[in-house]
This record gives sequence, C-alpha cells and structure tokens, in this order.
Amino acid sequence: MLGAAAGSSQIPPDTILINGVIRTMDDKRPLAEAIAISDGRIVAVGTSRQIKALSSPGTTVIDARGRLVLPGFNDAHVHFIGVGNWFSHLDSKDISNTTELLEKVRHFTRHLPKGRWLIGARLDLAKWKGPMPTLERLDAVSPDNPIILYLSDPTSAVVNSAARSRARVAPEGLILSGPQVARIRSAIPADHGTNWAEIAETASNYAASFGVTSVQDVHSDNLLDTYRQMAKAGRLKTRIYECVGMPGWLLDNSIAPRAATGDDTVRGGCIKTFSDASVEEKPELVDRITRADKAGHQVLIHAIGRRANANVVAAFAAAIEKNGPRDRRFRIEHAHNIDGPEIARLRALGIIPSMQPALFYDGGDVGDDYPLLLRSGANVAFGSDASMIDIDPLMGLHASVNSGANSISVETAVRAYTLGSAYAEFQEKQKGSIMVGKLADLVILSRDIFSIPKHEIRNTKVETTILGGRIIYSTDRGAK
Ligand SMILES: [Zn+2]
Repeated sequence: MLGAAAGSSQIPPDTILINGVIRTMDDKRPLAEAIAISDGRIVAVGTSRQIKALSSPGTTVIDARGRLVLPGFNDAHVHFIGVGNWFSHLDSKDISNTTELLEKVRHFTRHLPKGRWLIGARLDLAKWKGPMPTLERLDAVSPDNPIILYLSDPTSAVVNSAARSRARVAPEGLILSGPQVARIRSAIPADHGTNWAEIAETASNYAASFGVTSVQDVHSDNLLDTYRQMAKAGRLKTRIYECVGMPGWLLDNSIAPRAATGDDTVRGGCIKTFSDASVEEKPELVDRITRADKAGHQVLIHAIGRRANANVVAAFAAAIEKNGPRDRRFRIEHAHNIDGPEIARLRALGIIPSMQPALFYDGGDVGDDYPLLLRSGANVAFGSDASMIDIDPLMGLHASVNSGANSISVETAVRAYTLGSAYAEFQEKQKGSIMVGKLADLVILSRDIFSIPKHEIRNTKVETTILGGRIIYSTDRGAK
C-alpha cells in the first residue's frame, strides 16, 4: 500500500514528519507514514525510511509517534470575529475558588495575543471558597496580558502586575479598589472591543488549537485589509477566505475582489446573502445573484428548510441560465432539510452544500440530508458555524458518524472537512489533501479516529497543528 515515495528527492526538505499513520485523502495514495516539506509545501510522501533518507543535518524532524495525521481542517462556515470575541470578556460570576480562577485565566491568556487585555466582571467574593490566590500566582499564569476582573461591586477588582504597570499603580495585594481601579480602567485601550486584528488573532490562535488551518469567514464585515495586514505581520495562524454581505456589496461593488483571489493566506471574492421561505423574494434574489455572478463573484446563500432550499436552487438555476456556464461554485449555506428532488437539481447544477453537522445534531441525528447529499455526488463542504457553536471539527465529525441510520463514514466526514471545504473555496489544488505540491497544512490527533469506537471520537484531541510546515500549536508547547 505504501509503495515508492511520491515526489522529488532533489529538493532538500527543511522539515520532515515521520512515523505517522497518514490518511492523505488522496485516492492514489490513501495511506503513508511520512512527509517531506520544503518552503511550506509538501515535496514528498512515502514511508518513514524513504523520507528519512531525504533529510540533511538542518532538517527539522517531527515525530508523529504512530499517531494519526490528517490534512489540516478547513472550516467552511465561521464567524471569525465572533470566535475571537469569546475571549474579549470573561464572565466571572461562577468562579468560586483559586483553582477555577487560575484555570480560566490560563485558558484565556493561552489564546489571547501577547499584551491584549483580559477583562472580566461579576467576580462574587461572597461565594468564594478557600484562600484567594496571591498576586504572584496570578502573575505566573498571565505575565504578559494585563488583567482586570471587576468584583460584583465594580469599584473593586482583581488586577495583575502587567495591568498595574500599564497604569503605574503600586504592585501590592491582589484586589484594588476606588481610585486605583479607575486608574487601571483608564489604561485599557479604548478600542479593546473593536480591535479587529487582535480579536481575529485570538480566533486564529484558538482555531489552531483545534487543528483548523483554514476558515471561510462568512461574517458580513469587510475585514479583507485587516486580514492582509495581519498576514504580513505574521499574526495569522489561519488561512482565511473572507466573504462580504450582499447588502454591502450592492452599495459598493469595490469591497470584494473577484472570486477566490488573493494569496495562500488571505483571499476574498465571495458574497453572502439569505433566503427565507417567502416566494415573493425570488425575482429580487435572482437579480442579485445574477449581478454578483456576472461580476465574477462566488455567491453563498443561507437556506434552512424545505421551501428556502427550493427557492435558492431555483434562483441559482435562473442565474446560471442567464449568465451561461462557468466554474462558479454557487453555495447553499446549511442546506438543512433540503428535499430529495432538490438534491438532484443541486447536484446537476454543481451547487455546493456547505453543511454544519454539529450545529444540526438534534437528538443524536444530523438528519437524512447528509447521507443523501453525499450519495448524490454533490461536493459537500463541512464547517461549524462558530461562534454559534464551538469551532472544534471533532464535534462535527462525531455528529456525522454517530447519527444512527443517517451516519456517514469517518473517511467521508474527514474528506468533507478537508478536501470538500477546499473545493468550496476554489483551493482543492492547493490544500485539502496530503499530496506533493500542496500546502503543508497538517494535524496530528491523539487517537486514530478511523479505528477507535465511533462514540469515542468526541474525546479525541488535537496534539499538533502544522501550517505551511510550521508547528503553530502543540499540546507540549501551547498555542504561542
Ligand atoms: Zn453562520
């Protein structure tokens, strides 16, 4: 099965990954043990012996220690700023002892960019059990991120030394009150809640901890320039495909580039809109799709329910009829409860169902649209819809393979979350499978989800995340 190494041995790899159980999602070579990486891309795939032979003294070796290696996950539907904003504020009302407090702070600061403030409120000392932590212990878990956690009475607050030094307040005791709290508060940057780069960087760090190396940000805000600047500054651990909302695009056509344009890290060109079950909106919807499609954009439409999905398929069909054939990859976001006859039309028109199994995991069943759409031959993309739900792809994989009669195979689910999502953003030649020439975006899992009992998949953790050949997360080294 492993055969000869694919790829060239003339390129000296800067990184090699060995001793893995590598599921490539490449039908020509579904299994391998090792990968050679040069300049962020995969240059060879083969056995550990073959790949080891390519290494030179300067080569970094990543030993997967027999663990499962997959292409990095590609979340086809996220609201990235929403994810980052989970960490913009810490609701402290349920924290009642030192262990909980330090654990929460550690969790937050692990994902926050260095220097970003951690702001919390409603810390209730009336229900506190045991001694408070010392300032030294708080500083030890957060040396670089200033912290202010307001008590139930917000004139007092727990404040760490990083925050005190920003406000030039003396470093004595854990809790400050009165004018000292006011001084700390005035040191918090005014744009804490709107610093999109810091918030997106937080989301990126968090996504890396779940093996997510690519996201398709369907948030309607126009953040393409912010993401580009972040990529330039080395602040992104995620490749981002950014979509803008149809209303914004109608007002200003210049906010979106043509479909899927950009570099390997940041790309844009998709336009997202909604459909509800009303029949009246149809002519307007067709008109908007036709205009955006004609301008070279990819159009994504949110649809949930039988009627809404039927409307969208009909509207897409009408737009295709008007503008003629091209590789446009229209997408239905959610496609939840789509009807049987629509599935055949969708498949024939090349429309992509972009689905979120964990979001629709009602009563232990994702519903029959998952197996029906996948069996139809449609290109299904998987995602989470975070921040509606956590971004963890293992939750989506768990849901789609633990759905009774509607379960799909682990292989099919992983493929939808990698190659399927890559296709949905016109990037299937760049990523989504482990093949020579593709970007070296990889994830190493704690357990082999292809062989363990399916109900245990949800307990599987990401051990290492690799983006462009670089380790961006590992359970040994943390997220930074
Ligand atoms: Zn959404």
